[in-house]
Amino acid sequence: ELALKVVREHEARREPEIVEFQAQEVLRAYGLPTPKTVLARSSEEAVAAAVEIGYPVVLKIASPNISHKSDVGGVKVNLRDAGEVLTNFREITARAMRMRPDAYIAGCLVQEMAPPGVKEVIIGFKRDEQFGPMLMFGLGGIYVEIMKDISFKLAPLSRQNAFEIVREIKSYMLLKGLRGEKPVNFAALEEIILIMSQMALDLPQVWEAEFNPVLINHERAMVADVRMTLH
Ligand code: ADP
Ligand code: MG
Repeated sequence: ELALKVVREHEARREPEIVEFQAQEVLRAYGLPTPKTVLARSSEEAVAAAVEIGYPVVLKIASPNISHKSDVGGVKVNLRDAGEVLTNFREITARAMRMRPDAYIAGCLVQEMAPPGVKEVIIGFKRDEQFGPMLMFGLGGIYVEIMKDISFKLAPLSRQNAFEIVREIKSYMLLKGLRGEKPVNFAALEEIILIMSQMALDLPQVWEAEFNPVLINHERAMVADVRMTLH
């Protein structure tokens, strides 16, 4: 219900997309694992949030009009102290205003930083006029762009389908772990895929959605970015 409310509010405002800082509520409503995240409207608020979350933190530009945050230098990871948070908050917001003068800038998200060694995967769906929502799974970063190593299944997915979709990519062995590395938490990953499948059924107004990346290691998974496109 809460998720539907958020989607309807965006529709009413004729916003074409729901970006990360606006989708936090939706993620929580679905019980998805997310990094601790606080919206800071000033550099002072950002420092207070970082202390609460614990260093190191990530800062991300928070604007309904900026969906590819890195394109405007809007993501800074591994900030270790108040000084770094203060300067990066100012730099990120100033650069965004310069590069996107028409964008409304709410501030920055202050986010828990994933531990070193996590792997990045992408979970998404896209509606097909004929067949309905098509779930997509792939490794993040260069793997999805260059290798096009992605697997697909039509929603709704069964548990068995979720099990299969993560094992059908060519780079599955990277998730299983190389050279004595522990395998990622596959159960947590499959759970997120099943929730994404459920979202596709619950939210017909969302034409396309992407968790990019989901950060995962042998212990836990977290949805570290999300974008939903309305139609
Ligand atoms: P964009 O809008 O550019 O896609 P993201 O939120 O996906 O922005 O962040 C860009 C990249 O920064 C991610 O692909 C990931 O590599 C890294 N990143 C984002 N959030 C975190 C986090 N909480 N912990 C560690 N790395 C992160
Ligand atoms: Mg992203």
